[in-house]
Amino acid sequence: VPELPDVETMRQYLESTAMYQEIARVQVVSKQVLCETTVEGLRDGLVRGSFESTCRHGKYMFVALGGEEDRFLGLHFGMTGGLTYFGDLVDEPEYGQIRFHFASGNYLAYHSIRKLGEVRLIDDVEQFVDDKDLGPDALDPDLDLAAFKRIVTGRRVMVKALLLDQHNIAGIGNVYADEILFQADVHPRTKINALDGETIDHLFSTMSEVLRTAVECQAQPERFPDSYITAYRHEEGRCPECGTKLARVRVSSRTAYYCPVRQRKEQEG
Ligand SMILES: [Zn+2]
Repeated sequence: VPELPDVETMRQYLESTAMYQEIARVQVVSKQVLCETTVEGLRDGLVRGSFESTCRHGKYMFVALGGEEDRFLGLHFGMTGGLTYFGDLVDEPEYGQIRFHFASGNYLAYHSIRKLGEVRLIDDVEQFVDDKDLGPDALDPDLDLAAFKRIVTGRRVMVKALLLDQHNIAGIGNVYADEILFQADVHPRTKINALDGETIDHLFSTMSEVLRTAVECQAQPERFPDSYITAYRHEEGRCPECGTKLARVRVSSRTAYYCPVRQRKEQEG
């Protein structure tokens, strides 16, 4: 699932490829990914415009379209998906759901394999974030320790459930929640109110550190530090630090991987 580091990597990719070129055509292969718009609506909003700038909030990417209307293309990648820029149709990726044709002769494909992605036109990004009731982006500079404490204080939910809930903090999914909790030595089922102040501080700094590192590694787990758990999140995976077989547990109907030696469950406070 594309999480904050994956979407940020795609945003940087889009910035380095498909900007400032006139959009000549928009071909919609699968209407299922369109949200609150139609094929005609999407074409009207895009054709003869261009991608002028990009931003991101959590797992959502927004592309400013310039022009008088000052609208944005909003992209969410669902369970899996991405963007591919190419100059020759033989290089077109499989499962392309929308293809943008530029007047330059190049193309950008939006793909999402299980069609669970979302493509929409947005008038106001802040309003959209409000309407979706998204928490602050996990790497927002305004999300400092004090703001993080305001979000977590007094919560009785499991720490992993809190990290996954986009209404609290936006951008973290199953993979990075596991990595953050492993690096912070916190068991995924620990209730927030069982964590002491020092652990909360450590959890916050670890969250920022893990997400920044993943962005620097362009969300490629094979480039992550050797001490990271992400590459070992599978049935036979072992802890990269102590070699213990990773344990699994369900949290928020997702599978959490953790090291049973390093991440012990705190007693509830
Ligand atoms: Zn271990």
